[in-house]
Amino acid sequence: MGNSLIDIDGEYNTLIIGGGIVGAGIFRDLSLHSVKALLIDKFDFASQTSSSSSKMFHGGIRYLASLDFGLVWEALHEKNLWLKLAPHLCIERPFLIPTYKQSANGLLAMHLGVKLYDLLSSFQNSPSKALSRTNIKKAYPCLTQENLTGGVIYYDAIADDCKITLESIYDGILANKASRALNYVEITALQEDSEDGHIVELYDNLAAKKRTIRAKNIIFATGPFTDTLLAKLGFSNWSPAILPTKGSHIWLKKSSLNIDTPAVLQTKDGRIIFVMPYPDKILVGTTEIILQSADFNIRPTNEEIDYILDNIAAYFPDFEANHSQIISSYAGIRPLVLENSTGAAKNAHKVSRNHKVFTIGTNISVIIGGKLTTYRTMGQKLSAKIVKQNGRNYDASKSKQPLSYRSKILPFERKKNISPEDIFDIITNEKIRTFEDLVKRRMGIYTLAHWHYQQDFKGLFLSIFEKIKDRIKISKEEIESFN
Ligand SMILES: Cc1cc2nc3c(=O)[nH]c(=O)nc-3n(C[C@H](O)[C@H](O)[C@H](O)COP(=O)(O)OP(=O)(O)OC[C@H]3O[C@@H](n4cnc5c(N)ncnc54)[C@H](O)[C@@H]3O)c2cc1C
Repeated sequence: MGNSLIDIDGEYNTLIIGGGIVGAGIFRDLSLHSVKALLIDKFDFASQTSSSSSKMFHGGIRYLASLDFGLVWEALHEKNLWLKLAPHLCIERPFLIPTYKQSANGLLAMHLGVKLYDLLSSFQNSPSKALSRTNIKKAYPCLTQENLTGGVIYYDAIADDCKITLESIYDGILANKASRALNYVEITALQEDSEDGHIVELYDNLAAKKRTIRAKNIIFATGPFTDTLLAKLGFSNWSPAILPTKGSHIWLKKSSLNIDTPAVLQTKDGRIIFVMPYPDKILVGTTEIILQSADFNIRPTNEEIDYILDNIAAYFPDFEANHSQIISSYAGIRPLVLENSTGAAKNAHKVSRNHKVFTIGTNISVIIGGKLTTYRTMGQKLSAKIVKQNGRNYDASKSKQPLSYRSKILPFERKKNISPEDIFDIITNEKIRTFEDLVKRRMGIYTLAHWHYQQDFKGLFLSIFEKIKDRIKISKEEIESFN
């Protein structure tokens, strides 16, 4: 049984459509329970929302304001679990919230909030603390001092969203030799059949090949793209359930802000913006814009970028709020679950981040919403049903084991150079089909400005071009024009 659409087996217990974090988590859990699963994605795995988040495993400090204690409790426990399970992808950081006279939530409210946050983590979080105005002034002289009242420090984690998704998929493949994961393969038609399994037509977008397979169970984990896809496949009983909400981020030059601690800034329009310093750059975001529909591969607009820059400038008087400080930018769409209240639809930041599961046919399910942080538990009810259907016991703690495959290039580890052997290894083991998969999602180089190795980018790839050109989709022009 091979690894491409044309030579894989023709029958699976479960087909999972969508290789973002949600599909990856269910694929892993089912494979860990010996269920033969097939995971497909229309593009590369983790190429949409699941590589475009704020890159935090967090409880969601701001959901305390909406009294969403259940979600915060669960997310904090998951965050603290992943800090132990995947320390190479998820690291704890202190987060500073400075407070001002004009802040919507002042020092006292914030202090109570972070203490409640620690409590909801069952005190697994490193302990939060309040800081006086004088201490903040001393420790963070770069912050605006006018009207400063003090601040709080609490603990959350920064995480590589893309790598956690990918490593969950690799873990699933290694856990069950019969399971398969195919990128650039989309579903084009579905014929429901409860007796012998549904008949599904799949199309490989790179190979331009079509194939029919059978699957007893089907799970749509297609995030923000779910409404459009189900309408296209003819599910006339499906009512739109997603509130697609765009969020954009910018990566700033390290020199643009003199801060080493992640900061949470309260904006004038009642939201918050995260400023997260990394060793060689700073991530800032996000925006929140309700869209009419979800498109693939979306980009931030200039208005969104200016909104982020203006909010940074409001807190950091020495910050030069112009586009020359930006290394790169990206956008994603939150697959928020639509609520029937028009008020909620106007304020996406007030919509719950809980997930929802729907049954839309015999053994056909849809799972939407949730957060990166809670991906392990989100699909567990669905997985349990399928495992039990196969006459086996479901063990909810199976997915509490560490991920078995470690990516060749890790986000928080800086190599000086990358060797041709490293690249051959990635091509062999990390499910790559295009040059972009390799450079962006396996190496974390989203633009040339992210290239931190000592050797020349183009020189490296041109020197191995002949050796890799038959293994992935790549051209010399692509290497030359990458910027
Ligand atoms: C701006 C922003 C910031 C966020 N920050 C955080 C954060 O810091 N922490 C956190 O916990 N959560 C965060 N989230 C939420 C989190 O990122 C999302 O909930 C999560 O990534 C959604 O994953 P998903 O698998 O549902 O969707 P996706 O990652 O979008 O995956 C769906 C997949 O389905 C595929 N697909 C679509 N149509 C088809 C088809 N026809 N055939 C095959 N495949 C198809 C797509 O290509 C896509 O890869 C953030 C979200 C956004 C947008």
